[in-house]
This record gives sequence, structure tokens and C-alpha cells, in this order.
Amino acid sequence: MTSPLYGQMMELPLLASSLLSHASRHFGDNEIVSRRIEGDIHRYTYRDCEKRAKQLAQALTALGVEQGERIGTLAWNGYRHLECYYGIAGMGAVCHTINPRLFPDQVAFIIDHADDSYVFFDMTFGPLVEIIAPQCPNVKGWIALGDAACIGEHLSNMSVPVLSYESLIGEHDGAYDWPMLDERQASFLCYTSGTTGNPKGALYSHRSTVLHAYGAALPDAMGASSSDAILPVVPMFHVNAWGIPHAAPLVGAKLVFPGKDLDGRSLYELMETEGVTYSAGVPTVWMSLLTYMKQQNVRFSTLTRTVIGGSACPPAMLRIFEEEYGVQVIHAWGMTEMSPLGTLSRLSFRQKQRSPEEQRHSLEKQGHAIFGVDMKVVGDDGRELPWDGTSFGDLYVRGPWVIDRYFRRHESPLVDGWFPTGDVATIDPDGFMQITDRSKDVIKSGGEWISSIDLENIAVSHPQVAEAACIACLHPKWTERPLIVAVLKPAATVTREELLAHFEGKVAKWWIPDDVVFAQELPHTATGKLQKVRLREQYRDYVLPSATENSV
Ligand code: ADP
Repeated sequence: MTSPLYGQMMELPLLASSLLSHASRHFGDNEIVSRRIEGDIHRYTYRDCEKRAKQLAQALTALGVEQGERIGTLAWNGYRHLECYYGIAGMGAVCHTINPRLFPDQVAFIIDHADDSYVFFDMTFGPLVEIIAPQCPNVKGWIALGDAACIGEHLSNMSVPVLSYESLIGEHDGAYDWPMLDERQASFLCYTSGTTGNPKGALYSHRSTVLHAYGAALPDAMGASSSDAILPVVPMFHVNAWGIPHAAPLVGAKLVFPGKDLDGRSLYELMETEGVTYSAGVPTVWMSLLTYMKQQNVRFSTLTRTVIGGSACPPAMLRIFEEEYGVQVIHAWGMTEMSPLGTLSRLSFRQKQRSPEEQRHSLEKQGHAIFGVDMKVVGDDGRELPWDGTSFGDLYVRGPWVIDRYFRRHESPLVDGWFPTGDVATIDPDGFMQITDRSKDVIKSGGEWISSIDLENIAVSHPQVAEAACIACLHPKWTERPLIVAVLKPAATVTREELLAHFEGKVAKWWIPDDVVFAQELPHTATGKLQKVRLREQYRDYVLPSATENSV
């Protein structure tokens, strides 16, 4: 119905398919390069990609897939996965990206809960499909992302019947018009990694996907451009690779997909040969890349920026990227429930007038909210805390790409229209947010809170420490005190006492950890975050030296 109050603009819905159509029509020759499971490098253009995504949409229609039906993917970053993104969502079904690093039982739970009717998988996940298929009776077909010959070679001893992706789409010609969907229809589905209980689904809409892509591409967000070659290391099975598969076609950027090889050498070589200017990933990935580069004494010749998020970027890593390699680090924070982008550390004109030390301090934070996300920190009494950079409390967000409720769950997670993130944070007068902890990881010492992330950052700033976790240990006097579990670099000689001394002068005296233990490795979740729950279990009975002393 029209109203005299309405504006008079076209009412074209915001659809995921329009992102790829735009790239295909206006940047048709721009490249998408993939390192394939088959071992070679594959390259084609946005125009080719759209044609094959349309062939897939036709194939799904021929299989009887209906709008709203969930179709799963278990795949690395690659061109066929991108075709699945657009072919599935574009025809009106829901592209459900599944994290193959989860335990098989969790993967089966997710497929069953989402009620996926078909699942596309990279051939490396054949053994996983073999395990989970009997637990997923509603899946009508398992489709391997390859041609019949390759499937014959790699998956011949699977007992589960497998269809070939190439054979499936090869039967269609790509003469297909993307349907005009309602922009509120579901487009993508991602489950959280379920560190607390069973994974929960975040169901994005076409509208939220496109708005998020716009937001992500802004200069003060990820800042993608048609002059970039973007290599997303962050997997397409984890929160849509932070929206890069949507933001890159929106601006027409070249895309470079690393496939399954995410070690330092493979990433470095691909970045160099493809002229990558821009990348994005979690800190653990960058750690192995930086180690490789140091060992080989090599430098980036084209990379200018990288987004680091998913867990806190240690200031030491930020400094190495910037000072040793001249690469700008954009520290980002978000979560599955937020599509995922929330804040990014980009300095304003005013902040750039300050001393280098002050600028560095700001950049170490998780940064400013992008348009589309509003946030606040709330104290124990439920009242909003001041933006003074020191008051920390529970972080709440809201916006058009933040979930309203979880998939197939009735109860709303919202509190007065805001989503509680489960993170604890401060916001400073510049509007820069800093995560101090997950609410369950914060250390409560004598009624005061100590940030485990701050202490981890200091530990890894020691030149001989490779990785560190800070957890709460029970203490008879203070309730909890911090314990550092550190992994040392090869041939390191640092002692417990030397590492504890490294904290002096960097934090208040009562924040200095009570003890340090050394470990061979630390447990990580399927998305590369420190698994502190397991560490806390492991050190549950650990007795701090200070716990047996009379005075602390
Ligand atoms: P999961 O599926 O494991 O929940 P998410 O990517 O959704 O994976 O995890 C979101 C959480 O990761 C956030 O709530 C926050 O605790 C943490 N996180 C993400 N980015 C950062 C960051 N830059 N600094 C600190 N923590 C972060």
C-alpha cells in the first residue's frame, strides 16, 4: 500500500544474490583464485562464479529443494564453497555452514537440529561424513565438491552413497533469474561453537546479510575495495568468514581462497604469488605465519592490512606486524550472534592528533562500533556504566544484524531489547570498547575483578613466551587469584620467577599473577580460541604457593 507519507524510491529487496550479480555485472573479469583440495590452483572470474552458482540453483530446484529448506556445507574456503553460498541462498534456501572441526557428535547434532536436507562437503571430510551419516537420517543426499573422477579416486571406499557436485551442476546451463525474495527471508545459518552446552543457531536474513556486508566494507570497518586482493584465512564455515564472501563481491575485490592448507608457508606463498593486499584471521593463525617468516627471513611484498579478531590480538603481535612488516592491524570484535562484526580499531581524526604511544594504546582495544551496532556496558545493578575506559561490566549490543532469538528456540535471549554478549568490557570516552574477559573467565579477587586478557597479553609480550592463558585458581583468602599457564618458545630458558618479574610495573601490584606453570601446549576450541573451561578443570586442584602462606 502506498501512503502520501512514503518516499518514492524503488522497493528493491536487499538480497544476497544481488551481491554476486553486482560483481558479475560490474566487475565480471575480476578474479577468484583458490588453492584446491585437488592440489592445484584454480582461477576464474566473478562472471564464471555467478554462472555456476546459477547452475547450482537450477540443480537444487531439480532436486526439489524448496525455499527456506536448510542445505549444509562442510567445506574449506574455495570457489565451490562460494558457489554454494550464493546458489543456495540465492534460490531462497538457507546456506547452513557447518564447522568440521567440531566433534563428530556435535556436527551430527547440528545437521539434525537444522534439519539439513542435503550436505555439500569437501573431499577431505569424507571420513567425517562416513561417521556422522548414520546419525543424520533426514539428509537426503551427501554431495562431494568435486568431479566424478576425483570422487572415484578419493572417496571410493566410502559406504555412504555420494553425489558429485560437478555432475550435478553440469546438467544445467545457468540460464536462471535469481528469484525476488522477501528480504526478511533466511539466507545463512551458523551455529555457535557450543563451549557452553549444545551449539545454538544464528539464522541470518537476506537483509541482515546485505546490511552487514555494507557495514563490513566501510573504510572504518574492514575497508574492502575493488583495488584489493583479499585472502580470508578465517574459514567460511565460521560466521561466514566474517562477511568477506559478501563484502568482496559488493566492492568487486579479487578473492584468494587458501583451501585446507593454513600453515605459515602455504599462506605466505599464496599471499606473495597472488599479490594479496588484505587478509583476516584469528591470532593463532598469524602466530604460525609470523614464526615462518622470521625463520625464513622473508617479508610481505604486497600485504598492507590485516584484520585480527575472534580472540584478543596480543599487543606484541600488533607491534610485530606494524613495526617489523609495515602491515596495519585492524583489531576487530564480534560474535556469531552478530553476523559477526561489532567493533573495529580504526582511529578517528581526533585520535590521530595524539602521541604515538596514546594511538597504540587505542589500537590495542577492540575499537569503535560500526553503524549498525549500538553497545553499552552494564554494572551488577543493571545500570549503564560510564564511558570512562575503566568501569567494566557486561557488554550488551543491538542492531539489525544482531540476533533476536536463536534458531528453533522460543525463549528470547534479549534483555530490554539488547543482546547480552557474555563479554565483559570497558568503553572509553572515544567510544573505544575493550574486552577484558568472557564473563565466565573473569578473575574475582577479593571482590575486585582482574582481566585475564590483560595478563595474557603481558605474558606473551615476553620474548620467550609463545602462548599463555590466565585462569582463576581458588584461594582461601581472596577467593580467586590469577595463574598463568605458559607455552615457551623452543630453546627458551625463562624461569617462573623471571616471568613473574616481567609483570612488575605493567599492572597494579595486586593484579600480578600468583604463579606460573609451563605447559607443552594449550587446549583450543574448534574456532581457535583458548579453551579455558578445560584448563580450569585441569588446574582445579592446583594449590597456589600463596594459598599456603600466612600473608599474601
Ligand atoms: P563461538 O562460536 O566460539 O562463540 P564466536 O566467534 O561467535 O565464536 O565467538 C565470539 C566471542 O569471541 C566473543 O563473544 C568474544 O568473547 C570473543 N572475541 C571475538 N573477537 C574478540 C577480540 N577481538 N578480542 C577478544 N575477544 C574476542
